[in-house]
Order: sequence, then structure tokens, then C-alpha cells
Amino acid sequence: MINFNVPPFTGKEFDYMKQAVEAQKICGDGQFTKKCNEWIEKKTGTGKALLTTSCTHALEMAALLCDIKAGDEVILPSYTFVSTADAFVLRGATAVFVDIRPDTMNIDEKLIEDAITDKTKAIAPVHYAGVGCEMDTIMDIAKRHNLKVVEDAAQGIMATYKGKALGAIGDYGAFSFHETKNYSMGEGGAVLIKNPKDAERAEIYREKGTNRSQYYRGQVDKYRWMEFGSSYLPSDMNAAYLYAQLEIADEINNARMHVWNMYNEELNDLKEAGKIELPYIPKECVHNAHMFYLKTKDLDERTKLIDFLKKNEILSVFHYVPLHTAPAGVKYGRFHGEDKYTTKESDRLVRLPLYFGLKDDQVEYIVSKVKEFYNA
Ligand SMILES: *Cc1c(COP(=O)(O)O)cnc(C)c1O
Repeated sequence: MINFNVPPFTGKEFDYMKQAVEAQKICGDGQFTKKCNEWIEKKTGTGKALLTTSCTHALEMAALLCDIKAGDEVILPSYTFVSTADAFVLRGATAVFVDIRPDTMNIDEKLIEDAITDKTKAIAPVHYAGVGCEMDTIMDIAKRHNLKVVEDAAQGIMATYKGKALGAIGDYGAFSFHETKNYSMGEGGAVLIKNPKDAERAEIYREKGTNRSQYYRGQVDKYRWMEFGSSYLPSDMNAAYLYAQLEIADEINNARMHVWNMYNEELNDLKEAGKIELPYIPKECVHNAHMFYLKTKDLDERTKLIDFLKKNEILSVFHYVPLHTAPAGVKYGRFHGEDKYTTKESDRLVRLPLYFGLKDDQVEYIVSKVKEFYNA
């Protein structure tokens, strides 16, 4: 059986975790957390990066930093994971969904401005598959309407838009280190903060509303309850696991890219024959091979393809059920404008196995089975 995903593992993880244990510092903000934060800051150029317990929590921190309150509105795509919406809805905001572009599956930047009301506080673009949204347009809209931009870059680490790292373009960004992502610590994430002036507030929200981070740096002589907050910092053991992968991030990225390129080249005949569609990468974007997907003719064909692959010991998956059609989406959000592509395109998309360690002969086998399905 070829799994859809295998969590990344480099071999050094246990050694680093042992070091964390031997340093007798396994709670948050130990040596490996600091190394990971610095790695992200250096790689992306963001003002401040802080590891979190998940990308969901990084997005929650971003919502707190944006000062989102009950009655506010946040604009986001409906074609995304629930966390993009949850973070704002938890603060009492309404999720205002706009349609996606069928080429990248990202929010259609041309539809954002029309969805803005006097309640709108933020725009939350999602870089689907690690392919950047049209960020210049989005940042320009935000500037003219005085809105915050929170990038859901859960899938976007190591990818760029016009040379800028995804996650480091908007006011705040969020990475995920869930086991299904390119780099992992099991469960984990990071919040990226563009303006270092916001870093102190972020540290307070992350440390249960206290200024413990400042206390550890010797900047205050006792730590106290300063604001509301929660516990958003991961154990240093998890950070140690992640650091082993960040250290060889390029190697992992190249290996994933190799698989992605193999799929893209070898399935091109089917695309040329008009049987399937393949991902589109705008020229402004460098992606990170987070996922490889193809689009079938319709939902029925997709179901058959997934079943056929499964019978041949290949696990492929689809996602997401558009948020505006889900119970919580109906309750906490509304779709602005017409759902021209969100539902239709999401029904056609299939993700093929892609992980660090997937072998060339496995990719060849998967490609051959997709071709067999299409009698090609
Ligand atoms: C994975 C993912 C998340 C959630 O990440 P967690 O680390 O599991 O909280 C959020 N948004 C998108 C687009 C994702 O792909």
C-alpha cells in the first residue's frame, strides 16, 4: 500500500530530543524552540517568529493581535481548512467568504474589495498548495481600506511570491508543522509577526497573558498577569524534532520538488489530451511542492478514480468541503457574491501521495495507474 502521507523523519530527531531532555528543559522556549524561531526569522525575513502548538493557534494569536472583536468581519476563501475561519469566529467575528480562482484555488483577489463593509477588519488569504496568492493586490486593498492581512501559510513554508517568503508579507502569517506538512513536529506551528513592535504583545498572549518571556530575558524582575492570553507554546521536545528537519530544509524541499516534477511531466499527456487538469504556478510564485493534485472532469469521475487507485493499493484523498456549505459555516459566515468555482472545483480535485521518502518507482507506479484509469 502506498500511503497518502508519511510524516517527515530525517534520523536526527531522536538525538535532538535526547539533548532537550538532557538539558532538563522540556517545557516551552528552550534551546530548540529558539533555534527554530531564528531559523524561520532568517529564512523568511519576518520581524519575529514564535513557535506555537499548531497553525490553528498561530492563527488564533494573529486574530488576537488584530484585535478582532464580536461583530467584526473577516474576508477569506471558503475553500480552506476550518482553522482559517475558526480563529476569527472564536473572537466573535463573521467569516465572509469569497470565491476562489480556478487556476490556483486561491482567493480571487479581484472579488475581495466588493466584500468589504464598514465592519471588515482583516483579510485572510490562504496559500493553497504552497502557491502564493496575488499578494500585491491584496496588500494594496488592505492598505487603502485600513485592514490587517493574516496569511494562512500553513502550506507555504519555503515558498515565495515575487521573491518574498509566504507568511512574511502580511501583518501576520501562520505556518503549520502538523505531520501532513512539509516539515513537522507532530502537532505544531509558528506565528510570523512583521512588525517587531507587536512581538511583545504576541509573547504575552502566548504565555497565558504573562510577561514571562521578558522575565526570562531579565528585562523585568517578576512576571505578572498583563493581558488575557492562553498557552500557545510547544514543548522543546517537539521543537527538537522539528529542528532536525529545518536544518536540512533544502534537501527535503528538493526531494519533494523532484516528486512533484515527475508527476507534472509524466501526467502532461493526459492534460494535453484534455482528460485532466494539472496545477498552475503563476510566474510570480515559487512553490514548495506541498501537494500534487489533479482535477478530474467531475465529482463522479473523481470518486471512481480514488476507488480505482485504492484497489491498486494507492491512497489518494480529496478535500475541502467548502466552509460555507458546512453547518458551522452557515452559522458563523456568509458567502459574498456567487459561488462560481469554490464548490465546482473542490469537487474535482484529487491529491496524489507526496512525502519525503516517496520513491521514484512508486511515483512511476502511481502515474501508470492514473493513466490506466484514463485508458491512456
Ligand atoms: C494544515 C492547515 C491548517 C491547520 O494547521 P494545524 O497545525 O493542524 O493547526 C490551517 N490552514 C491550512 C490551510 C492548513 O493546510
